[in-house]
Amino acid sequence: MYLDYLTPESINDALQILQQQKGKARIIAGGTDLLLDIESKKHNPEVLVDITRIPEIRGIRTEGNFLIIGAGVTHNEAAKSALVNEKAQVLAEASRSVGSLQIRNTATIAGNVVNAQPAADAAVALVALGATAVITSSDFTREVPVEELYAGVGKSKVNSNNEIVTKIIIPALQPGEGSAFTRLAQRKALALPMLNVAVMVSIAEDKFQRVSIVMAPVGPQPVRASDSENLLKGAAVNEETIQKAAEAALNHANPRSSALRGSAEYRCATLKVLVRRALETAVARARN
Ligand SMILES: Cc1cc2nc3c(=O)[nH]c(=O)nc-3n(C[C@H](O)[C@H](O)[C@H](O)COP(=O)(O)OP(=O)(O)OC[C@H]3O[C@@H](n4cnc5c(N)ncnc54)[C@H](O)[C@@H]3O)c2cc1C
Repeated sequence: MYLDYLTPESINDALQILQQQKGKARIIAGGTDLLLDIESKKHNPEVLVDITRIPEIRGIRTEGNFLIIGAGVTHNEAAKSALVNEKAQVLAEASRSVGSLQIRNTATIAGNVVNAQPAADAAVALVALGATAVITSSDFTREVPVEELYAGVGKSKVNSNNEIVTKIIIPALQPGEGSAFTRLAQRKALALPMLNVAVMVSIAEDKFQRVSIVMAPVGPQPVRASDSENLLKGAAVNEETIQKAAEAALNHANPRSSALRGSAEYRCATLKVLVRRALETAVARARN
């Protein structure tokens, strides 16, 4: 049972508390994951450090060609943001698909990343966008690709007992680039989807240039469809290449059978449809 609930108003104050508590305190943002984790005894903090009242971590803005998402930004704020819809559409779509309205109003994108579930919707989109997280402690600040933050299912390389993700940096979509998110879920409020796919493409002279295709939950973390990405790079943009890429995505997918979220066979059969649809939508957006 935790003893205290603190609401620092600056990152420095929050870091100081974490340092003083020597591993007994833990960051809380929306609490939609953490409170369940405390109940199930996955985490046993004695002090909760609520970061949602820190102005420095709020807000969505651009810096040059990058979109900056503060760690206090909720899924609903991202889903509604004109900037996110324009410069990182796949993230707006992913955030819009999370849980229910109440969850989206409270839960943060940074919390989604740190909770490290393989199919965390916003995290999957951020990996496709090549986003990085800025992580600060009393000792130093580091910037790590979101893709490299997973340490296993539900395990993050961010140590929320003494580190804070302060912001997420996303390369903003440029002309000729498009992104899209597809998702299969039993019903809207089900926590975590049966499958989700996030795609980012850049097109020049009707050929694929950069392509990233990320799928989940088909492994312990969001998984890149590398064969599909390689197949598309430099290839003509047409239905045939997209279909081949969608088929090749299965080379990297190893979904588990789940009573709640469908059999492995069903997930594999559906995955290639989701990849094809995401690619088609991203291509249409890149061409606009
Ligand atoms: C009913 C329900 C439905 C849901 N549906 C979905 C869904 O459809 N898709 C989906 O992806 N998720 C879903 N979730 C999961 C959850 O809402 C998300 O993962 C959410 O984004 C977590 O954000 P939070 O702010 O609530 O994090 P918290 O619960 O506050 O924190 C999560 C973890 O991250 C750490 N942490 C949080 N912020 C930081 C930070 N800035 N720096 C360092 N550590 C930090 C905490 O210590 C904790 O370990 C659902 C949850 C519920 C309860």
